[in-house]
Amino acid sequence: MDNREIADRLEAFATLLELVEANPYTARAYRRAAETIRGAALPVADLARSGRARELRGIGPGIETRIRELVETGEIAELAELERELAPDLVGLGRYLGLGAKRSIELARALDVRTADELREAAAAGRLKSVPGIGPKTEARLLEALAREHEPRPRQGLLLNGAWELVGGIAEAVDGHPAGDARRWRDSCERLAVVCAASDPGPVLARFAALPQIVAVIEREERRAMGVTVEGVPVELVAAEPERLGTALLRATGSPAYVEALEPLPDAPDEEAVYSALGIPWCPPELREEPFRGEPPELVTPNDIRGDLHCHTTRSDGRASVEEMGRAASERGYDYLAICDHTPAVGAVRGLTPDDVRRQAEEIAAANEVLAPFRVLRGIECDILPDGRLDLRDDVLAELEWVQASVHGGQRMPRAEMTKRVVEALRNPYVRCLSHPTGRYINRRPENALDLERAFEVALEEGTAVEVNGLPSRLDLSGQHVREALDAGLEIVCSTDAHSVRGLGNMALSVATARRGWATAAQVVNTRPLDAILG
Ligand SMILES: [Zn+2]
Ligand SMILES: [Zn+2]
Repeated sequence: MDNREIADRLEAFATLLELVEANPYTARAYRRAAETIRGAALPVADLARSGRARELRGIGPGIETRIRELVETGEIAELAELERELAPDLVGLGRYLGLGAKRSIELARALDVRTADELREAAAAGRLKSVPGIGPKTEARLLEALAREHEPRPRQGLLLNGAWELVGGIAEAVDGHPAGDARRWRDSCERLAVVCAASDPGPVLARFAALPQIVAVIEREERRAMGVTVEGVPVELVAAEPERLGTALLRATGSPAYVEALEPLPDAPDEEAVYSALGIPWCPPELREEPFRGEPPELVTPNDIRGDLHCHTTRSDGRASVEEMGRAASERGYDYLAICDHTPAVGAVRGLTPDDVRRQAEEIAAANEVLAPFRVLRGIECDILPDGRLDLRDDVLAELEWVQASVHGGQRMPRAEMTKRVVEALRNPYVRCLSHPTGRYINRRPENALDLERAFEVALEEGTAVEVNGLPSRLDLSGQHVREALDAGLEIVCSTDAHSVRGLGNMALSVATARRGWATAAQVVNTRPLDAILG
């Protein structure tokens, strides 16, 4: 049994533990152990046999026992038991059809079916209505969903970070390429796809079906399969002939409108060759939304970013200290990091008073001594009060090196009022950047009623930038709004709004969103050296 097989089984165990709603820490511990084992240089089976598995990070006595059982007997008894009882493929299919995990398990028990195929048979034989609680309406809905021929879609798009984790993990496991909406860095991903090259598609389709992330395969063709995760999210695998890989990847990446406008696509082993056969320049995936055959601009890249201008520490709702955040930013190769904790009006979490701001200045000065020449900047994420005034006095703001202004509370106000509020804040000479300008939460809260065009006009007059917030649930401005802001002549700031060291990694999401708005490095404030930020 090799490391990958051991890791797959532990991950499957973690998924089932989550399903039975066991202690979430246990499930997470198994997931972490699986990750460690996947990356381990030594054969873990040998370590387990000689009683040394615990030398690996994150493997305690409980998990060690399971690994030994797995290596010695080829199975984890409790896992096999859970699989018999829970039928995870039915749970995945049930969720895809719109049923909760519990309901799916009840359905499986009542019909005495064990697999997705058996469920289909039972449904076709008209047995669904024999299940208590399933009326004619639900039966009709389930039958319709089961018979659905068109492209499966998750009921709600996945946030970009989750989509990348899923698609990236599967791509790695089948030695393929991430495609679909994630490759275009859409803020909410519906088409989740992986493309790989295979002369003989059989083995890779089998490998896909056996992945721990995929609990049931709901469609299967010679070179294509559609699997679902235990959450009911459909994921597509395309196994292309090697000489057509580029064509398949392009088709699985672009929006339908983009691809349609390029058809008929020539066959080619890589995307560059497809584009050159079409006689048009290669197009970055982020721009493959609307039909486009032209020369794309030189888009900003993560390497252009010199610093992050919006993050939090333990003084408000962050999880790391000034020095920890600064060190992490420095290790990312940045030259600077602005600490922008909240102000008191934010309400739900702690905010900094003028005294706190001065105390934090000492902490920042101390960090700068340790981290020089890297520079931690004194910043703030200052609330915009309902009447448009800022939550800190001007004399306090004047001391700071970077001021973000944010609407948090009272977001439901009417358009005229909200616009006046934001415009008022933008007129403050100390404000350098408007944070998450629309206030949306993807799939959860719509944009504030703000006249964005008017806000952009005033920002331009005042020389104030607008943020592309990289939190996966925000991505605010969106790509579309970035384009509008740039067309209006504004500059943007790519920020993470990190609340932890790990959160600094969301810069990739912010930059990709800026790219979707056609941003070049010259239009992004934090591609510039420290002097330009301070000036
Ligand atoms: Zn905020
Ligand atoms: Zn923030």
